[in-house]
Amino acid sequence: MTLAVNLTNAIPELVAIRHDLHAHPELGLEEFRTSDVVAKMLEELGYAVTRGLAGTGIVASLKNGTSNRSIGIRADMDALPITEETGLDYASQNPGLMHACGHDGHTTMLLGAARAIAERRNFDGTVHLIFQPAEENFGGAKIMMDEGLFEKFPCDAVFALHNEPNLPFGQFALREGPIMAAVDEARITITGRGGHGAEPQETADPIVCGAAIVMALQSIVARNIHPMDPTVVTVGSFHSGTASNIIPERAEIVIGIRSFDPGIRDELERRIRLIVEHQALSFDMTAEVDYQRSYDATINHKAETDILRDLAVRFAGRENVKDLERPFMGSEDFAYMLKAVPGSYFFLGSRVTGQEKPLHHPGFNFNDDLLPIGAAFWTELAESYLPI
Ligand SMILES: [Zn+2]
Ligand SMILES: [Zn+2]
Repeated sequence: MTLAVNLTNAIPELVAIRHDLHAHPELGLEEFRTSDVVAKMLEELGYAVTRGLAGTGIVASLKNGTSNRSIGIRADMDALPITEETGLDYASQNPGLMHACGHDGHTTMLLGAARAIAERRNFDGTVHLIFQPAEENFGGAKIMMDEGLFEKFPCDAVFALHNEPNLPFGQFALREGPIMAAVDEARITITGRGGHGAEPQETADPIVCGAAIVMALQSIVARNIHPMDPTVVTVGSFHSGTASNIIPERAEIVIGIRSFDPGIRDELERRIRLIVEHQALSFDMTAEVDYQRSYDATINHKAETDILRDLAVRFAGRENVKDLERPFMGSEDFAYMLKAVPGSYFFLGSRVTGQEKPLHHPGFNFNDDLLPIGAAFWTELAESYLPI
């Protein structure tokens, strides 16, 4: 095995690819242009490219040598419905859409690895590069799997990364076990009885009821869940009414719920339903709860996390490798891949000045200096996982 892949010479090409993707962001399941660009490059590099999983998803496979072993590395391709405010000369040309999570960078790093892996041919086995759509919303990973991803392209292990502007530049942050939370969403519609703001006694005010529900929900994490179990209940939206002299008919509340333990996940739903329905009843109103389970928790496997850690230490030095004390409460549809195939997901830090905008901010921009690092790391991971 030869370590120390150096992709310094590839930087201009990687930066050009990343800026092109950044200028043309596309929403989940609509990454048509992005998918075309990616597939074309991979075909030119000699990969067997399969298109169309989850619509815009791509798997690029390369076999070398005689081994039956295989590795999967995944990048996400989708952008967000955010109006970009970076002022960059390669800023989004698609109004209202933006690469604000750095998936343009993730895709570019894996393309950089694709070139290095193909040119070096320093592995024995099969490399599957998985470019998935719709990480942000529709669970593109799950859709690709439902369409036979791992039956068609069996992987002994899968890996993925996310850039993280809150972590120091070049730091590898990993964690055995839970690393990202499960997320669910509850949409609550409170129906009261509207009327004149001067005659509240003739009405049933859904705003007052909604306010009581918002406050009562705070007791779940504080009083129903074990203090050592990480859980979040966030009221992210509360809409009702139009003017000071009108009591509205309805109020709508949207809640985001995050957890790790499946039993706690069930308990959160039970408590939320109880609180909402009974609070509404106490105000002589009704409330409907539309409760949708979304992504499962992302749970890293031990052996594959050890592989990541060992390589990261050799690659970046022990001082740049950190085992996270706590998981993040964000979510990831890579969770589904890790339920089907052993693997590990990690963060690659991109903070330089401390002034970087966070992920999902209209001023966020992926740090191009990470491109050769991520691409080289993926190359070394593939080569060291499939040694000659
Ligand atoms: Zn995101
Ligand atoms: Zn993301």
